Amino acid sequence: MKLVLATSNKGKVKEIKALCEEYEVIAYSELIDEFEIIEDADSFKENALIKARAVYKALKDAPQGYDKNLIVIADDSGISVDILNGAPGIYSARYGGINANDKENLNKLMQDIKSKGVKSSPAHYTASIAIVTKNGEYSVHGWMYGEALTEAIGDGGFGYDPMFIPLGFDKTLGELDDEVKKKLSHRSKALDLAKKIIKSF
Ligand code: IMP
Repeated sequence: MKLVLATSNKGKVKEIKALCEEYEVIAYSELIDEFEIIEDADSFKENALIKARAVYKALKDAPQGYDKNLIVIADDSGISVDILNGAPGIYSARYGGINANDKENLNKLMQDIKSKGVKSSPAHYTASIAIVTKNGEYSVHGWMYGEALTEAIGDGGFGYDPMFIPLGFDKTLGELDDEVKKKLSHRSKALDLAKKIIKSF
């Protein structure tokens, strides 16, 4: 069964492929030209649905035709830091500015936590996975709790991982092996639920 990912974020594509080895997983940009999707909803759930719906429609409308059993999945995710009242949350991808890259976002978040006079704060990641198929639309969530630091350690993972220590560990996701994140991440928990839905089709 083929799963089309409504994202071209390399970190997410890599993780989702590793977490869904039983499926053929491809990024939509491997099938059609990448296009801008405005994520203007106020929740991870709605933003994930916006992305999955947009890619499902674009593939359906593509001149080269499409597979009627197409399954599109989108991931909308981010980190929420307690001392910042849940920021950046759904704004995680553009926390450092509209066109900010992962490093700029990470630096701004560490700086903002530091400006509160602390070295770390409880935080959590959220992943919402939307599934859009001819059978309808579905959405599931997963969370990973831990501590957000004011320093970045290690270069594993992507995005905010070098500044995040998962609960029960003493190293950041930048230092821990990919296999650790694979077992406990927000994305792996949401995908476990998504797979139950996909298997029922
Ligand atoms: P989205 O593509 O709009 O969902 O943006 C997600 C944002 O949250 C990006 O800035 C990512 O780098 C960040 N993010 C989401 N999941 C993770 C993760 O597992 N590790 C690190 N950063 C993440």
